[in-house]
Amino acid sequence: MARDLSRIAENLREIRRRIGDACRRSNRLPSAVKLVAVTKYAEPDWVRELVSLGVIDLGESRPQQLVERSPLFSKAIRWHFIGHLQRNKARRLLPLATLIHSVDTMQLLRAIDRMADELRVRPRVLLQVNIAVETAKHGFSFDELISDWTTVQECRNVEIQGLMTMAPLADDVEEIRPVFRRLRELRDELAAKSAGTMPLSELSMGMSRDFEVAIEEGATIVRVGSELFSGLEAT
Ligand SMILES: *Cc1c(COP(=O)(O)O)cnc(C)c1O
Repeated sequence: MARDLSRIAENLREIRRRIGDACRRSNRLPSAVKLVAVTKYAEPDWVRELVSLGVIDLGESRPQQLVERSPLFSKAIRWHFIGHLQRNKARRLLPLATLIHSVDTMQLLRAIDRMADELRVRPRVLLQVNIAVETAKHGFSFDELISDWTTVQECRNVEIQGLMTMAPLADDVEEIRPVFRRLRELRDELAAKSAGTMPLSELSMGMSRDFEVAIEEGATIVRVGSELFSGLEAT
């Protein structure tokens, strides 16, 4: 049987409904939360189906796949890079990515800053924070970001728009609510340290299993993959 791409429209509708409900519960406008469709495991025809449904924010976690896919799709697509980025892969990504969510070390931030100067681009980035430090995830630690904030602010060729985190796996999503809350508090603290020069308005947090809690805690961007494609099978 042909794979039933209509599942994608159904899944998308359901996710948008759940985003809307989470916004209502937390007195936020649905327009304040952007859905990034994570296509890292999606087949090209699934991605085309999503695009035909009007989704233009797509997230990829491997530089190679983003570089290969971007010329195949409309220029209107906004490609979000959400994966671990090695410095030697950054150069090709900078002109293509609308937002790099996953700047996870000071060395990477500095390297991007230098490349941006050379390439005469102004990349938009988020700093990835490892809030629950016991997990082996990439990212700045909470304390590191606070103590190194002056150095961060010296990177003037990048536009640091906010913070990103990945929550640890948990049986109960309520266990990870404090992780999202702490990211928001960290943002507030850093924005205050920047005295209005860096509003850090974006909080990229929440994936398929936890996006509703993330929205309740202030997410402005949720990154949803598997839930969008549930019911479809890759070939
Ligand atoms: C894969 C991935 C997602 C999407 O995860 P799902 O559980 O499939 O929704 C979100 N963010 C990052 C950084 C990812 O690597």
